[in-house]
Amino acid sequence: MAQTSDILFEQALAKGTQGERLTAAEAGALAAAVSPDRLHALGRAALANRRRRFGDRATFVFNLQINPANICGARCTFCNYAASKKDAHVYVMSEAEILGKVAQLQPTEAHIVGGLNQVWPYERNLELVRRLRAQYPGLHIKAFTAVEIAYFAKTAHKSETEILAELKAAGVEALPGGGAEIFSERLWRRHWPNKIGPDEWVRIHQTAHGLGFSTNATMLFGFGDTWDERIHHLLTLRRAQDQSGGFACFIPLAFQPGEGNFIAHGPTPLETLMVLAIARLVLDNIPHLKSYWPMSGVETAAAGLSWGADDMDGTISEEKIAHLAGASTPKGLARERMTETIRMAGFVPLERDGKFGEAKTKG
Ligand code: SF4
Repeated sequence: MAQTSDILFEQALAKGTQGERLTAAEAGALAAAVSPDRLHALGRAALANRRRRFGDRATFVFNLQINPANICGARCTFCNYAASKKDAHVYVMSEAEILGKVAQLQPTEAHIVGGLNQVWPYERNLELVRRLRAQYPGLHIKAFTAVEIAYFAKTAHKSETEILAELKAAGVEALPGGGAEIFSERLWRRHWPNKIGPDEWVRIHQTAHGLGFSTNATMLFGFGDTWDERIHHLLTLRRAQDQSGGFACFIPLAFQPGEGNFIAHGPTPLETLMVLAIARLVLDNIPHLKSYWPMSGVETAAAGLSWGADDMDGTISEEKIAHLAGASTPKGLARERMTETIRMAGFVPLERDGKFGEAKTKG
């Protein structure tokens, strides 16, 4: 038995290093990299794979995260961001505040996500996008998770396709990957039963791909999920990408327990690096892999560049979601710090645009 898993592990590394497709059994064998020699071999294979694709380049984007309001009644058990109107940490941004932030920071990309609420209903969000597009024709607008798209459809009495088509016409170019959590029926029923599950999440992204959107995919891990569930999540995404081809980037999200959450600790840095490496080797058809520093911490995210990641996300001015969930990371990383962090990790920093091309630097 041990021999079979050794063989599968070695096969997975050899194929993954060359960028070849792994079988489900080989993908599963990677998760058994618990001994030091196996861990090093896993990291080396992921690094070789990322170097074949991207050389020593590591990208980041100058972006602004806009979270218009945190009012949300979905009651996902892990969420420290959502609030009711009476909570002390509730907030609602106005259009003037949002447009003021964009005018002040002049980001390359705006990333807009929020809670499920009628304070910022669909039409108000749609109008915000129209105004941003009118004022900033070059701004890359990545907005609204599949969970929000499903909520907009339900509350505006339109189909998801209509919602997506209207958002596209207004100026949205990409969907963020949030809301997928982890593709596990077991964990969905227990932790986020009031929002869409795995099949609906995939369906909405594939509908978006059909309309010409590029989308991201995420995976929340480190909150009681198993390695089998993580591998299942990756294989589900790989299959969906074979069918619709619109995923630009995969982003593992290290769970942030926050205060009073149902577990005391999120994943260790080593576990985060393993997830990155395995994702790099399994997701042969999703181009980019992001090391997301607001959740994992800057140091682990920088180390992630040697474990398969090619992107550090962005400067993320004003990020609220991970920080209300208790993340102790800085709220925004200046361009200079991002560049220096990437260099210190041994890679060549490149500021990118929202579509992973080279940014037209604004200084
Ligand atoms: S995770 Fe999203 S949908 Fe769930 S409670 Fe928090 S804001 Fe609402």
